Amino acid sequence: MKVFYPKKIFIEKDVVKSPVTQRILCKLPNVPVEYIDDYRKIKIKGRMINNIYKESKECLAIARKKGKLVKQFRCRDGIIGSTEYYIAHGNNCCFDCEYCFLQGYFDNAIPTLFVNHEEMLTEIRDVIIAAGDKGVVFHAGELCDAFVFDDLTGLSRKLIHLFSEFPNARLELRTKATNLESLLSESGIDNVVISWTFSPQVIVDAYEHKTPSLEERISTAEEVQKAGYNVGICLDPIIRCEDWYDNYKAMLNMLFDRLDITKIEFVSLGGFRFLPSLARAIRERNPQTNLLLGEFVPCIDGKYRYFRPIRVEIYRELGNIIRQRGKGIRALLCMETSEVWNELVDVL
Ligand code: SF4
Repeated sequence: MKVFYPKKIFIEKDVVKSPVTQRILCKLPNVPVEYIDDYRKIKIKGRMINNIYKESKECLAIARKKGKLVKQFRCRDGIIGSTEYYIAHGNNCCFDCEYCFLQGYFDNAIPTLFVNHEEMLTEIRDVIIAAGDKGVVFHAGELCDAFVFDDLTGLSRKLIHLFSEFPNARLELRTKATNLESLLSESGIDNVVISWTFSPQVIVDAYEHKTPSLEERISTAEEVQKAGYNVGICLDPIIRCEDWYDNYKAMLNMLFDRLDITKIEFVSLGGFRFLPSLARAIRERNPQTNLLLGEFVPCIDGKYRYFRPIRVEIYRELGNIIRQRGKGIRALLCMETSEVWNELVDVL
């Protein structure tokens, strides 16, 4: 994976002395720095929205997260999902997936790292302790890829050390990145899983701009498993491209051939979905895109998804491959309606 080297760094004045800020600056010498009061007020100027996005993603902001660093993830009504917490370690990322729901989500698209790690770890610890014996699930990667900046921040090691104290709590680190060297020197622990979004290479080429290739992701997952970690496979978003079945089948076969099946914790399946605001952002940035061509219908949560029979067909076909090749691996749907779950009880 190409090392991220921003063209400019914005630093909030009150985190200049933070050890995490200093670590990031040591790793990025000679990058021009602008000191600011609030990362939310940064404006990148430009005439074309796509240029503003591209320019924003070439910068980096270092900030203190105001408000909660650990938030409960809630599905909208009618959508089935697990109750868990996500860790707000950053906003945006330097990859540029065409379907990314973060387009237009924040005040700007600048990758932003929150360096108040000690407060973050304290909040996580407090949630775990409050949950007691019930156990509680966290994930990182909701609003910023979990690893893409990890060599700069060193956050994953801190999280793993914390979760090693609490075997009842579980952490999933979600990524498309391949710079996971920091993990390889730490032995894996059972309650931390590293999950990748895997997409057929045709999808990576078409829509997942600036991300590592499928081959790079699989090789990294192999290494991470060898270091003792369990991994998760996220097929989300599944995009119904031409020859979608052959492409996804070939990819699943590659994954099951190369990964240790006993160390795959789950395969999650989620069809491409979008709010109207995301569709506007996608079209504004790339009027020629074919991502939004297809039979999409509005669902109970306001998001558009492939027409239900199409989704059921996709999940059934892929679920059958998972049952045949990955015997015993838990397959689940991501952000789906109860009707779709009910139609697939025999497969999942
Ligand atoms: S890797 Fe995730 S956060 Fe980054 S651009 Fe792609 S979808 Fe968005």
